[in-house]
Amino acid sequence: MKIKIDKNLCIGCGSCVSVCEDCFELTDDNKACVKQDNQCNCDDECIKQVVDICPVNAIEVENNK
Ligand code: SF4
Repeated sequence: MKIKIDKNLCIGCGSCVSVCEDCFELTDDNKACVKQDNQCNCDDECIKQVVDICPVNAIEVENNK
């Protein structure tokens, strides 16, 4: 599973970070990014929650299972 964030859409609200601090962080320019050292074992439900919580639909998931 690959998570992508469209930084042009992201408004830096931090909602995705509050759902999963292991996966997401806010950068200095106040945009969300997926942590490079992502140690999170998010399940589908968690990912769905993050996608749903983003107010601007900036989070995309490619499911390449
Ligand atoms: Fe950006 Fe969406 Fe995360 Fe908010 S929830 S910080 S808009 S990616």
